[in-house]
Amino acid sequence: MPRILLLLPTRTYRTEDFLAAALGLGVEVVVASERANALAAERPDELLALDFLDPAAAAREAAAFARAHPLDAVVPVDDDTTVVAAAISAALGQPHNSVASAAAARDKHLMRALLARAGVPVPHYTLCSLDEDPGAVAARVGYPCVVKPLFLSASRGVIRADEPDGFVAAVRRLAAILEIPDVAERGGEAARQYLVEAFVPGEEVALEGLLLKGELQVLALFDKPDPLEGPFFEETIYITPSRLPADVQAELAAATAGAARALGLREGPVHAELRWNQDGPWVIEIAARSIGGLCSRTLRFGTGLSLEELILRHALGMEIPSLERERRAAGVMMLPIPRRGTLREVRGQDAAKAVPGVEEVAVTAHLGQELIPLPEGAAYLGFLFARAETPEAVEAALREAHRRLDFVIA
Ligand code: ADP
Repeated sequence: MPRILLLLPTRTYRTEDFLAAALGLGVEVVVASERANALAAERPDELLALDFLDPAAAAREAAAFARAHPLDAVVPVDDDTTVVAAAISAALGQPHNSVASAAAARDKHLMRALLARAGVPVPHYTLCSLDEDPGAVAARVGYPCVVKPLFLSASRGVIRADEPDGFVAAVRRLAAILEIPDVAERGGEAARQYLVEAFVPGEEVALEGLLLKGELQVLALFDKPDPLEGPFFEETIYITPSRLPADVQAELAAATAGAARALGLREGPVHAELRWNQDGPWVIEIAARSIGGLCSRTLRFGTGLSLEELILRHALGMEIPSLERERRAAGVMMLPIPRRGTLREVRGQDAAKAVPGVEEVAVTAHLGQELIPLPEGAAYLGFLFARAETPEAVEAALREAHRRLDFVIA
């Protein structure tokens, strides 16, 4: 039986879906997280604590573990573990993304530099230091622009500014996020810097892909029908298939493939965010991981394979029966956090579930949880899933289900 090492940060949303996929495939799973699990002493063959902030040390530990319990593949489930996974795969001699390519995909500045050098269309960007007076920076950047951290994800700390005063306020707000102790520790040097980019107008899409020996296979292209104009960029609805014309979709795929090549990514899942306007495609970012949150539940391949099964099969070199997404349209709404406060009650879940086409209402925030909206927040309120014959019907179902939900926030 093949054995797989899953790198599961304690705060990931991806645990359940990856474990279900492993169970479905009948593979043995070793779970590594960044903190020692309370059960680790009883189940040393299945649970491992690795320092995800120190890839070299984690690779040594994993290699030592693998001498006693051979590992056939290493799978990072989200952003925090892609670099560590590459380091461990290298130590085990398995096909993988290079550590440098995985690290480049985690560093928004390095990513921009590599993409720009390779001729991939990216917004004009400037690296800035928090040690410089933001008023001075405000006087030399162009507007509208976007201020963003170098290393966070899920739009955390990403803020649009339209003029100098707004810019200074945005930088102060980002600086406060970067000073939060666990953020500062994770970022190290990068937590003292930020990026300023030209704001790219246009429609936004997300591309889910799989790299096979350097070739990009597009698994799904998602439209994001809610406008993302800022000042904060809260993700809401993702719907696939895209309603964009086929030639535009092909250009978006080509830009993503170019981005993967420019960073040197070659194997495994990629998730890219792109914009499209009269000048063509723009790569906002590409990550060496699959789609975040619970959003992968929108995707099914061939006769019902999940995205996670597909990823595990690829990692293990097992046959992949089909990379073709099902024919029906599907979508997810990441439930927007209406305001800051404590979640007291969620009403209307049955009514939301009763909307035709709606498959699942997953409220992931727990009662009593402190809800923090963007740009500071890092957790989702929950997810709505729908399937129907057309993207329009999926969108309508998600909006109706959302209308029926009532979040009581104190
Ligand atoms: P994260 O990794 O946190 O998701 P991104 O750089 O992808 O950070 O930015 C998050 C969102 O902010 C994007 O999906 C997009 O909607 C918006 N955004 C980021 N940069 C730009 C830009 N230069 N122009 C327009 N929108 C942007």
